[in-house]
Amino acid sequence: MDTVDVLGASVACLTLGEAAEVVAGFVREGRPRQVITLNPEFLYRAQSERELMETVRRADLVTADGVGIVWAARKAGRPVPERVTGIDLLLRLAVEAGARHWRVFLLGAAPGVAEAAGRELAARYPGLVLAGTHHGYFKPEEEPEVIAKVRASRPDLLFVALGAPRQELWAARHLAALGVPVVVGVGGSLDVLAGKVHRAPVWLRRLHLEWLGRLLMDPRRWRRQLVLPKFALLVLRRHR
Ligand code: UDP
Repeated sequence: MDTVDVLGASVACLTLGEAAEVVAGFVREGRPRQVITLNPEFLYRAQSERELMETVRRADLVTADGVGIVWAARKAGRPVPERVTGIDLLLRLAVEAGARHWRVFLLGAAPGVAEAAGRELAARYPGLVLAGTHHGYFKPEEEPEVIAKVRASRPDLLFVALGAPRQELWAARHLAALGVPVVVGVGGSLDVLAGKVHRAPVWLRRLHLEWLGRLLMDPRRWRRQLVLPKFALLVLRRHR
C-alpha cells in the first residue's frame, strides 16, 4: 500500500473508494485489524504520548482525516488524493455491507444514539445486518461485558464512537479479545447518523473548511483546535 510518512505516521495515499476496498479485503481475510482516520490533534498528541504513537504505528490502515493531514502529506512530498473521514468511510462501508450482508456493530455515543443510528443505517442500506449496538458511557468494570457482547454478535465491522483518541486506544487494547475483522474509530458519526448533530454543509467542506463549521456549531472545540498551528509548525520544521 502506498503511504506517506507524516510525523511518524504512515498515512495511506488512497481515495475514499480505495480505502473502502482495502477494508473490504480485511473483512474477507477475517483476522482482527484496526483502521484509524487520523486527524492533526491526534497526531500532535502522539508526538509526546507513546501509546498513541504505537497505536498509530500498529494500525493496519491510517487514512487522512482532516485537511491538516492532507496538507502535511503534501509538505512531506507525497500528496494524498483526498480526505477520508470516519463518517465518510462508515457510509461507504455501509454500502458494501448492504451488498454483502455484512454484520455491523455500533459502539458509542449517549444511550439510545447507537440504536437510532443503527435503524437509520439498516433503513438506508438494505442487506446490512445490524449485529448490535451499545452506548459509549460504560464504566471500566462493565468493559468485559461490552467486549463479550460485541464478540458474541460476530460482527464483520465494528464502529467505535467514543471520541478520538480514546476510541483508538480502546480498540487497540481490545482488538484480539473483540475478535472482529475490522474495527474503525468514527468519532461523532453516530450522533450525525442519528440526526443529533449536523455536519458542516457540503459547500463549506469543499472549501476545506469543515473544521470551521464544526467550530461554529460547537464553539467549545476551539480548545482542541489550538493545537493546529503547533501541528503546522512541526510539519513545516520537519519538511522545510
Ligand atoms: N463519547 C462516548 N463515551 C464517552 C465520551 C464520548 O461514547 O465517554 C461519544 C460522544 O457521545 C460522541 C463521540 O463519542 O458521540 C465523540 O464525538 P466527537 O465529535 O467529539 O468525536 P471526535 O471528533 O473527538 O473524534
